[in-house]
Amino acid sequence: MTHAVVLGASMGGLLAARALAGVYDRVTVVERDALPADVGNRRGVPQDKHFHTILLRGAQVLEEMFPGLTSDLVAAGARRVSFNDEARFVLSGHELARTVTGASDIQATRPMLERAVRARVGDHAGVRIVPGCDVAGPMVDRGRVTGVRVVVDGADGVLEADLVVDAMGRYGRSRAWLTAMGFPTPEEDRIDVDMMYVSRLVRPVEPFRDKLVLIGPVPGRTTGLVFAAQEDGRWMVTVAGMAGDHPPTDEAAYAAFVERAAPPDVHQAIVTAEPLGPFRSHRFPASLRRRYERLRRFPPGLLVFGDALCGFNPIYGQGMTVAALEAVALRRCLRDGENGLALRFFRAAAGIIDPVWQLNAVADLALPEIDGRRTPATRLLNRYIARLHRVGAHDPVVAGAFMRTIGLLEPQSSITRPGVLARVVIGGMRRR
Ligand SMILES: Cc1cc2nc3c(=O)[nH]c(=O)nc-3n(C[C@H](O)[C@H](O)[C@H](O)COP(=O)(O)OP(=O)(O)OC[C@H]3O[C@@H](n4cnc5c(N)ncnc54)[C@H](O)[C@@H]3O)c2cc1C
Repeated sequence: MTHAVVLGASMGGLLAARALAGVYDRVTVVERDALPADVGNRRGVPQDKHFHTILLRGAQVLEEMFPGLTSDLVAAGARRVSFNDEARFVLSGHELARTVTGASDIQATRPMLERAVRARVGDHAGVRIVPGCDVAGPMVDRGRVTGVRVVVDGADGVLEADLVVDAMGRYGRSRAWLTAMGFPTPEEDRIDVDMMYVSRLVRPVEPFRDKLVLIGPVPGRTTGLVFAAQEDGRWMVTVAGMAGDHPPTDEAAYAAFVERAAPPDVHQAIVTAEPLGPFRSHRFPASLRRRYERLRRFPPGLLVFGDALCGFNPIYGQGMTVAALEAVALRRCLRDGENGLALRFFRAAAGIIDPVWQLNAVADLALPEIDGRRTPATRLLNRYIARLHRVGAHDPVVAGAFMRTIGLLEPQSSITRPGVLARVVIGGMRRR
């Protein structure tokens, strides 16, 4: 009987378990938190009190992995949002033209989405999810990871495994374990954004015409916000500030902070809405990528997955979609057996992360307030994207191409393909 153990039952761990199910006879997902049977927040995922979007590509992959998930979520109250005719995007200060890209997204609170995915993963034959189980460290035999030591209800235990997957998030322990085992640790790339999120669920006093409003930061104003319909008629308001310009949590200062970024109708809807709970804040110092794919030596029996590999700036909403794509890659790597699995998987994951990390870096570095090295190519791309946003305010073809790119439906190169490039260049000259 083969056995895989996944550490952490957040979205990364659950999606990894989905990839492993059926390949290993048994898959055990261990989680330190008690897992709420209802839709509740939990300590190990502090970000679950804030707006969470699954990108257009992520929504497709989740539906392929869990057929019927989207309609079940919608039946349970989640909102389906057609892009971007039902979504208002204001980027570089321009509201993008509405267009029907043919792609839609599912909008629900993070606990609702995670619980639905957890239920589906738990239904797989051979998969067991064990809450209240704290991972203490790896079991190692002659340089191979052979399981983990755990603590359950204060009692020590062991879980032997053919494969251990660290999906314990950006604070996952693999780096420390590697050092203790005498293996090299990965280099880290980081982009310091010094960001704070402040979020609150509200009920608008009047129906609001869009299902999603997203206002991005601009040079000189490193703040932005999301106003998004969720299940049960609730709306999530998440305001964010980068480069140390953090949102306040007293009502008057908060309303003024919202007003700096929001168009008048959005500001009005937010400040008149009925608050359904307190403000919640979350500090996010930096995007962090660990270059496991560059390691020459890595212990067999261990993998690193999800945010433990790369934690992206959350304002671009990419983490769960990348974890879903990593799960697809892991499944593919498993077809060739366990030989060299870790390095094969890390290379495949790097191929997924590279373009997303670049999208992040280019967008972050468009703000002069964010420190970082700007190559001539970055500067050129930033000027091009600012112009694209300006043209995209009137040109649905350009707006649609951009939406599909940031939704990871198409590669970044598609915004510079001839049909789009010509419209941006010529449209940009006309609009000037
Ligand atoms: C403020 C914020 C907003 C975000 N918004 C979005 C968004 O809009 N869209 C998006 O796609 N992504 C978003 N993300 C990222 C997204 O939350 C993650 O990419 C996603 O949760 C996958 O991460 P993960 O499962 O790898 O790690 P995590 O979500 O960090 O989960 C780690 C899990 O490991 C468990 N754990 C930790 N230590 C132990 C231990 N010792 N023993 C057992 N269990 C342990 C934790 O309890 C937790 O369940 C956001 C992140 C932040 C911070």
